[in-house]
Amino acid sequence: MTASASVRVMTPEEIAARGGGETAFLHPPQRATLFAERAMRLRQLARGHAMGDYLQFMAELAQAQQARLADFPAVPLPDADALERAFGLGRPPLPAADWPRDPVWHGVAKVIAADLQRSAPAGAKAALEAIATAGGDWLERQADCLLTGVMQGLDLATAPIVAAALQVYWTHMASALLARPNERGAPFGRTDDETACPCCGSRPTASITRSSGESLGQRYLHCSLCGMQWHMVRIKCPNCLSTKSLAYHSLDAAGSSEEGGSRAAGAALQAETCDDCHGYLKIMHSDRDPFVEPVADDLASVTLDLLVSEAGYQRHGVNLMLLFGAPEAPPDPGGP
Ligand SMILES: [Zn+2]
Ligand SMILES: [Zn+2]
Repeated sequence: MTASASVRVMTPEEIAARGGGETAFLHPPQRATLFAERAMRLRQLARGHAMGDYLQFMAELAQAQQARLADFPAVPLPDADALERAFGLGRPPLPAADWPRDPVWHGVAKVIAADLQRSAPAGAKAALEAIATAGGDWLERQADCLLTGVMQGLDLATAPIVAAALQVYWTHMASALLARPNERGAPFGRTDDETACPCCGSRPTASITRSSGESLGQRYLHCSLCGMQWHMVRIKCPNCLSTKSLAYHSLDAAGSSEEGGSRAAGAALQAETCDDCHGYLKIMHSDRDPFVEPVADDLASVTLDLLVSEAGYQRHGVNLMLLFGAPEAPPDPGGP
């Protein structure tokens, strides 16, 4: 890891000494702005970036997602009994892998693909056309692959559009559920697996430290599917929960000079590595850059992934817009 500097995490005592009052467990997705802010950040990151055209296209995709979320049709949600049952079992109420999906999301995917036709680069047109003509069963099979992390049978070319529609669907359900009055105050809370989203059970894309209010300096994991953010103390590895071997790496510092080291420690985006599970998750600091956005900044920092994976760490974060892997012969989108 020659081009990065590594910085030890604060000890538990140091962090406890800085602790304040109660920390909110959840920061729900902001329905009115979630995807629009992502689009804005992607456009900002695209300027002068080696992957500028790609990031610009992803910005158009996020903008199309915001438009779909704004007028999402009513869909079934878990009722009070189902919420109580999930809560009792320590499970999320809208599990990505098991929730019976309403086919309304197929139409969302098709409208997103149609919205992108004008701005899409030539290389993406075929994928958009494939979504336009895709049958419901094929879309459902693609969704199964995406939501259960199975790469075999997944068509990588259309996956970002399918994923975009599923993100809109789950973000809609999460915010609709939170907006509904509930006896307990919140429709869901902590589950048995603190490394997975308490709303849908998905893995995080990255974590983000917040820079305002009661959550100042606290770290939240950002769900790759529904956009929910849940609190996890910074001393724990977000993958294996170990508190022993966390370190931070960034692209900001070259060499091991003192100046380089302090720049790395102050970087807005770092990879948090764990020597117990050999995994890593990116961490973004909104006090250092107020515009960091987990999905956008993750897409724009693939170089950091290469650097950290060369050092032997495995990516723990999931970004549905950028999947790694080579599926075997993808099925025909127009098929049965
Ligand atoms: Zn979620
Ligand atoms: Zn770990």
